[in-house]
Amino acid sequence: MSWKLTCRDAGDGSGDVILELPDDLLQAAGMAVGDTLELERDPNDSTAIRLTKVVLCDVCNASTAETGHGVLQAQWRDGEAEGMRLCRSCFNYAMATLRSAHRVNHMFDDDEPEQ
Ligand SMILES: [Zn+2]
Repeated sequence: MSWKLTCRDAGDGSGDVILELPDDLLQAAGMAVGDTLELERDPNDSTAIRLTKVVLCDVCNASTAETGHGVLQAQWRDGEAEGMRLCRSCFNYAMATLRSAHRVNHMFDDDEPEQ
């Protein structure tokens, strides 16, 4: 997907520009007000930039731009929903901790299969 937008001078002498992102672009890209975006030049088109939504880990606040992120998510029957977006390190820690805690808690169960 691509949009043609015009950068506006911030007007404060800083050389910064303001780029207003239209609602249809935000919606199509799954972005919302308050998201952190990474901007880079498009290597194939000198007049184009790429905007990437940067997900910060909900535990350690690290950027997941390089690696992607994991999601720990719940959708309860009472309608309540909750979730966490995690960097690879925190996600792996959560997975290992859950498996380890389960193993310890059920160590002496007779009917618990070995994992
Ligand atoms: Zn993290």
